[in-house]
Amino acid sequence: MPELPEVETVVTDLRPELTGRRVRDAQLGLAKMLKHPDPVTFAARIVGQRVAGMRRHGKLMAIDLEQGDGLYVHLGMTGRLTVCAPEEPVLKHTHLVLALDDGRELRYHDPRQFGRLLFGTEVELRRAGVFPRLGPDPLGGDFTFGRFAGLLGRRHRPIKAALLDQSLIAGLGNIYADESCFAARIRPTRRIQRVSVAERRALYGAIQTVLQKSIRNRGSSVDDYRDGFGAPGNHQGYLLVYGRAGAPCVQCSGPLKKVRLAGRGTVYCPRCQR
Ligand SMILES: [Zn+2]
Repeated sequence: MPELPEVETVVTDLRPELTGRRVRDAQLGLAKMLKHPDPVTFAARIVGQRVAGMRRHGKLMAIDLEQGDGLYVHLGMTGRLTVCAPEEPVLKHTHLVLALDDGRELRYHDPRQFGRLLFGTEVELRRAGVFPRLGPDPLGGDFTFGRFAGLLGRRHRPIKAALLDQSLIAGLGNIYADESCFAARIRPTRRIQRVSVAERRALYGAIQTVLQKSIRNRGSSVDDYRDGFGAPGNHQGYLLVYGRAGAPCVQCSGPLKKVRLAGRGTVYCPRCQR
């Protein structure tokens, strides 16, 4: 599943391609991918508008339009958002095609259909109850240590479950939650109330370092993830624990262990992470 670094890569790829372009036509193939508004209203509102910019909060992308509304895209498990020449074959499972005034197309492709599309102003989408509740973005200016430590609280649940909770912190998924816990030397199963202030500080720094390293490598293509031009990322070869169960730990050479936590496969080093 694309997480913050993968979504950031798509946004930085597409922002210069889309900004200033006008939407000439909108073809929504699978209506259920659009959670708001209805398809006819959507097409009537987006066609003719110019793209003002593109941004991201956590894993949620926003293509901002000149009239103050926006197309919000969440890639879910297998979503891809790419800009293509019109002669490129349209892949099966392409659910939205926006024709742009430079002749190219923005295409949303999602075989497993866990992604979602929203259109409107943020106020409108919140009022409709379809805008996700998202905590601070770990690379945003408001993600201070005080805020991070406060969000975690003194809870009973495992630290990894909190890191995956998008309403607490927006952007981490299974890959970077495991990588952050390893970098901070904290076992993902540890209860939050037993994570010291010094350890919280280490985890706070680790989350940002881990995400920034992956962004520099254009994200991890461990499954279907592709960047804004359809190419895979390069960070999958640099992951230290994710996908490496049974392999030697890069620090101590002991075997990495896999457990299930919050319904997700979780890999850690039982010697380096306490
Ligand atoms: Zn180790």
